[in-house]
Amino acid sequence: MKYTVSRGTKDILPEEMAYWHHIESASRSLFDLYNYQEIRTPIFEMTDLFERGIGTSTDIVEKEMYTFTDKGDRRLTLRPEGTAPIARAYIQHSMHKKETVSKLYYCGPMFRYERPQAGRFRQFHQIGVECLGNAHPFSDAEVISLGVHLFDDMGLSGLSVSINSVGCVVCRPVIEERLKQFIGANLQGLCEDCKRRFNSKPLRILDCKNPQCRAYFSGMPDIQKSQCHECRDHFNSVVEYIDSLGIPFNINPQLVRGLEYYSRTTFEILSEHLGAQNAICGGGRYDGLVSQMGGPSVPAVGFAFGIERAVMVLQQMSDIFKRKDPLIFVAPLGFEQQTKCFFLVDELRRAGIKCEIDYSKGELKAQLKQANKLQAEYALIYGETEAEKNTIVVKHMTKGQQVEIAWDSVVNYLKEAHGQP
Ligand code: AMP
Repeated sequence: MKYTVSRGTKDILPEEMAYWHHIESASRSLFDLYNYQEIRTPIFEMTDLFERGIGTSTDIVEKEMYTFTDKGDRRLTLRPEGTAPIARAYIQHSMHKKETVSKLYYCGPMFRYERPQAGRFRQFHQIGVECLGNAHPFSDAEVISLGVHLFDDMGLSGLSVSINSVGCVVCRPVIEERLKQFIGANLQGLCEDCKRRFNSKPLRILDCKNPQCRAYFSGMPDIQKSQCHECRDHFNSVVEYIDSLGIPFNINPQLVRGLEYYSRTTFEILSEHLGAQNAICGGGRYDGLVSQMGGPSVPAVGFAFGIERAVMVLQQMSDIFKRKDPLIFVAPLGFEQQTKCFFLVDELRRAGIKCEIDYSKGELKAQLKQANKLQAEYALIYGETEAEKNTIVVKHMTKGQQVEIAWDSVVNYLKEAHGQP
């Protein structure tokens, strides 16, 4: 085959679309319930935005960005995530002056040059929320609860929440020092990325996916013990709130996430239905990001989940999406009958009845075969005999019964059959 999709990308075919619509509409309704508003930012932004926002010692910035120079010699990057662009838009449109808390959500494609595997693509889609302007642990707990509520609404089961705190600008140096003392003894056994990050961003080491490196992390000192009082209190409150909301969780002291902007809370929602890529949703607090990008000092918390992974979970769980709206198949037999049926399908569709027609001049048998293939509920058969009598045959495809009714009454007949007024 000469042309196929690029590595790490995929076509989303019609048979998968019901899942996508379900996920998108469940998200939109729930975000509306929590009073979030949608924002759409461009697919590409200045490269510097992501370098500064996500952090230069992350895998994303070091290895995974789709960066190019445009004809005006600008360095641009296809967005690898949604938070930095939203922080940019928040600053650019002075949203902090218009409202004390901005609650935004987004949905769209993201791009990362990763090694493709099941559940990991180079173009994938995220839906995410960002709540800017509230530093209180209630805000973290509410965002986590929104994520859990959302997957409940979608009908996803087998999920668990993993949570941690990575400290703040005040206690981060203490945490990093403690970590360096622990890792230092094993530095030679770690990969090149970890060795490089050891001095500049030791916390990043915990994000390394290399199993050999990960083996060294067991027995690591509890980084929460090195945190300042404020961070510990904040974390304890978040944990207390989500616990009292009845959300099951576990504390994972190694959960630092792949983006450098996180402060205090980090969390993931994991699915038992996904293999190695078991994280369906990731997020946390990023109190320093807006100011670091030249804006005011505004605390914030958010999450993003991958639509492809949510689809994978739903596909394994249920077949509710295989059900379709009932379809009427119109089978004209002969040229003149085709012309009349051409106008009939228009009338049916305008009456809100979903229908399909075969213009291939096929025999009745072939047309009914086609109706079966499309899982039509009824076939409308209109041949010369019916034309002479000004009637039409309505055949129930699964029951096999058929009735002959007056041509003019067919729209009402089908409306009644579907229970419409
Ligand atoms: P992150 O933006 O890295 O915090 O990821 C948040 C969520 O996006 C993950 O939990 C996944 O569900 C999804 N995700 C991230 N990277 C990919 C990818 N390369 N392919 C598919 N989904 C992804």
